[in-house]
Amino acid sequence: MDMNLIFRIILLSLWISIAVVRGYYGRKTKTHDSLDGMKEKLKTAESEMGRGGIALAAVFAVIGVLGIILYFLAPPWWTWTHIPLDEWVQWSGAILASISILYLIWVHRHLDSQWSIALEIYEDHKLITTGPYRRVRHPMYLGMFVYTIGLCLISLDVLVILFFMYTILVNYRRIPGEEQMMIDQFGEEYTEYMKRTGKLIPSFRLRDKT
Ligand code: SAH
Repeated sequence: MDMNLIFRIILLSLWISIAVVRGYYGRKTKTHDSLDGMKEKLKTAESEMGRGGIALAAVFAVIGVLGIILYFLAPPWWTWTHIPLDEWVQWSGAILASISILYLIWVHRHLDSQWSIALEIYEDHKLITTGPYRRVRHPMYLGMFVYTIGLCLISLDVLVILFFMYTILVNYRRIPGEEQMMIDQFGEEYTEYMKRTGKLIPSFRLRDKT
């Protein structure tokens, strides 16, 4: 079988896998309670981005949809967005994305019902500092970023990569606001937690082990 077809199937399977994981763990959260709830949360996210942000998101959405359609259909006249690199780059991407999915399952098991696609504090919100949250404050973003980089490597397609890099940037920019929200809610408990953890890179400082 054509290797390019194999990689397209791998990419699609990994994509479906993450959708299943997020759907499965999302069923417990209030975000996914109803379609209306989800729409409401997307609206909040939009207002966080501002007008310019929404325009930029629209541009990248077009790039993403186009890029992904062309990547999957792979018409013979469309080759200029393909980056000619060795096959092992694509295999590394597949491994990276697969490991990320397992890591994200671990993250979801710990964050559990506190997960939200928007930034919000639930009524009975607890600060999670266990499992992956023990050493890093944003393991879900970390897992999603590495997963996304994995997909980029599998695709080796300029448009697909542009779109995925944009999604990383958008999520990365949420971090300061999210941390401020957590400080407002949990105060010193969170500032202390910040001292012993890394933002995206796990902190392995000795004093953590106590
Ligand atoms: N940034 C985190 C969580 C992403 S989901 C991560 O990357 O793992 C976003 C929601 O998670 C936010 O609405 C926030 O309320 C919640 N959240 C973030 N960190 C948390 C923590 N340590 N404990 C409990 N909830 C947290």
